[in-house]
Amino acid sequence: MRYRPLNLGRWLLWGATAIVFAVAPLVFTESFALTMMIQMGTMIIFALSYNMLLGQGGMLSFGHAVYSGLGAYMAVHALNLAGKGMIVLPVPLLPLVGGIAGLAFGVLFGYVTTRRAGTTFAMISLGVGEMVFACVLMFPGFFGGEAGVSTNRVVGQPFLGLSFGPAIQVYYLVAFWCLACMVAMFALTQTPLGRMANAVRDNPERAEFVGYNPQRVRFLMLALSGFFAGIAGGLGRKRSAEAIEAVRKMSEAAVKNLEQIKTSRDDNTFLDWGRRSKAGPVAGATAATLLRTLWNLDLDDLANSAAAAMLAKPGIFGPDTVLVPAFSILAEEEGAGFASQAAFLDLWKHAADFLLARSEFPPAAPTDWAQPVQFNCACALCKELRQFAADPKEQVHRFRVRQESRSHLQSIIQMNGLDMKHETERIGSPQTLVCTKTRRRYESRCNEYKSDGSQFEIMAQLGKGFADKVPVHLKRVQSAIDRAGGWRTGS
Ligand SMILES: [Zn+2]
Repeated sequence: MRYRPLNLGRWLLWGATAIVFAVAPLVFTESFALTMMIQMGTMIIFALSYNMLLGQGGMLSFGHAVYSGLGAYMAVHALNLAGKGMIVLPVPLLPLVGGIAGLAFGVLFGYVTTRRAGTTFAMISLGVGEMVFACVLMFPGFFGGEAGVSTNRVVGQPFLGLSFGPAIQVYYLVAFWCLACMVAMFALTQTPLGRMANAVRDNPERAEFVGYNPQRVRFLMLALSGFFAGIAGGLGRKRSAEAIEAVRKMSEAAVKNLEQIKTSRDDNTFLDWGRRSKAGPVAGATAATLLRTLWNLDLDDLANSAAAAMLAKPGIFGPDTVLVPAFSILAEEEGAGFASQAAFLDLWKHAADFLLARSEFPPAAPTDWAQPVQFNCACALCKELRQFAADPKEQVHRFRVRQESRSHLQSIIQMNGLDMKHETERIGSPQTLVCTKTRRRYESRCNEYKSDGSQFEIMAQLGKGFADKVPVHLKRVQSAIDRAGGWRTGS
């Protein structure tokens, strides 16, 4: 290493970089540019930490994201703990938590992976990456499953008057850490370790002959690059509060919309969520997404008003068509965590009441053909039709009447949904309308009862999460399931 008292070029270069970092947000002022620069700063740290491995140490790693990812998870959990007041952690030091976590995992995994260099190292690092990825789905308690762990980055007291809510403050935090990491990583290349990393990269045998252990050099480089990757991860969690604010506003508008949704019956400007056949699953997914977003962002008030809006309009947010499908989506994607929300408990009870009222007991099989009906036509034919419908024995009735009367009967049957089919017998004049009573209504009730049975099962599964709060409902739901299990269509 050459000795130079003052490296003017280096000072100029670093000074210029610092000035560019400081001035950039004054030149690019849009919030998009700020968000972009925050991302860039984070990625610079991550890329340079990768350069420590591949560029300086000649180690091709496919699992480097592990260290920044785990660092990020640790940072988020630390932030949540700080939010609960369990630890004291100024937000600017949060990346350091990520860094220390990255270092710790670097030590842990690096000990295993750096025993070999070259292709072997690359393959093992790939394996470690896959392993950690699998763990993310296996331990939803820590990793939060696919949705991740949510947090509020504006916790605790402002640090030196900085709350890190506004994006500009986040930017300068990232810029500070980015510059500090760049300097530290550059300085590392000037140390004996940095030099030996180059030597091990270029010729491990020779490095070993000189008296260095290439494995230890690789190990140290990996652990240290894990540290910097962890810092990048810890910074990456700091999304700007403006983005959160935008999502909050959108959710507010969505909830307001919910309160104003009307059915086709209320009004002719409607958003028909109530269409029973096709809209069900879609509406369920939409409701689930809305509730999940609100809960993840800790917008409890909005979540409560959304739930209240859904409760107030059972015609639109049908418990069977929207709510239970939404519950099952939430349960699948979120685990049982959301069950602790008070608003969710209300929705669950509401759905349970609805389903119990309809299908706590199996539909009674009809014992005769009596199908009493109400409709308002006073003509003689309709009177005859009513009598036929109410008759417990007569299953088929023939109306030998003129064309207009036949059409009138047909439209009456159709409009009132009488449980009978009607055919025209084209013999003689006038022709005959043959009405035959059917069991369609009972059959569709049976189908409804069957599908309610599977909804009861979803409800029971969810209800276990708060069994102490809804003991009566849960017991009735459970016995409805047992009853449905032994039930056969008896027509
Ligand atoms: Zn009539």
